[in-house]
Amino acid sequence: MSKTIETIELVQPSPGTTRFLKVHRYGTAGAGAKAYFQAALHSDEYPGLMAANHLVGLLDKAEKAGHIIGEIVVVPVANPIGLGQQLNGYHVGRYEFSGGGNFNRGWPDFTDAVAGKLKGKLGADAAANVAMIRAALRDAVAEFEVTCEFDGLRKVLLGLSIDADMVFDLHCDNEALLHLYASARHRDLAAELAADLGAPVILLETEPGGNPFDETNAGAWWRLREALGEDAPFPDACFATTVELRGRADVYDHHGQADAAALFRFLQRRGVIAGDPGPLPPALGQPTPLEGTDVINAPAAGLVAYKKTIGEQIKAGETIAELIDLMAEDPGAARTPVISHASGLLFSMAVEKLVRPGAPIAKVAGAEPLAHRKAGKLLEN
Ligand SMILES: [Zn+2]
Repeated sequence: MSKTIETIELVQPSPGTTRFLKVHRYGTAGAGAKAYFQAALHSDEYPGLMAANHLVGLLDKAEKAGHIIGEIVVVPVANPIGLGQQLNGYHVGRYEFSGGGNFNRGWPDFTDAVAGKLKGKLGADAAANVAMIRAALRDAVAEFEVTCEFDGLRKVLLGLSIDADMVFDLHCDNEALLHLYASARHRDLAAELAADLGAPVILLETEPGGNPFDETNAGAWWRLREALGEDAPFPDACFATTVELRGRADVYDHHGQADAAALFRFLQRRGVIAGDPGPLPPALGQPTPLEGTDVINAPAAGLVAYKKTIGEQIKAGETIAELIDLMAEDPGAARTPVISHASGLLFSMAVEKLVRPGAPIAKVAGAEPLAHRKAGKLLEN
């Protein structure tokens, strides 16, 4: 089937205002593996918009050449609600102005709805079970009640993604190296994707908490397995990943081209697109547990003076930065060292150097789980 572009209107937030999504679809549903991409769910993270723009270009060419084997859905702008949030000339994303909270938290959990439909109905055929579970997940999304624009957005995006084999949620960090989050259950796929992308940091979680978009899609499978408590076989059939395409200022064609080409090659390796992706590039890093990542927060308000920089290997106990108390009367006594609890790669730093208490100022990816990092509370707010 040839490419289609769909325009989907969201729930009207106020009289006279309507926002909409553009959905690019390639291939035929059910013809092969399905891949889903969306960019900038937090809205003010532009590197994903750039990558998606280039990806659509590559997919258009592949489609014209007859190379699409499976099904591919791209939402190049995932959050028009957040895109419209301007305050005094600044674009303010991440949280919904209307009070809906963080755009990438609190996504619905369909476990009970799906388990209720499927209890006692799955059989010995894993492929048949996958098809039944996908149908039940689609039904659950269709039955998801919407009363506001943000829930309407959630419903549309999940309606496009919930039955996919692969879900790519394209984000970015503050100032950062390319890194990605995925479930430890999909370690090999995550490592392969990271190699293609050239990402030195792969953060694997078993329970990140907060119900972000990727976990809602991927977690549906293992949550259902736990809820059913049956031994009917089915795989964790959705690989979902949050890809952090470096930092917010890293918005360039050369990055977008490279990122889109890497995602395209990954789809070739997974048989969604025909053609030779070439050999997998060597890995730039090994996966580490998300609970081994030290998210280093500011102990107080102040001005951050970094002592380390992005890409440096850090030893536990080393000073990453000093926090300057701007109200101190003696500048010599105004500095508080901020240390890393993890040994590993410093992969994220703050853009805004004047921080409030508790603001994240650095992330260090360590290989060993940290005592203060708790499963279920591993992500930032
Ligand atoms: Zn984000």
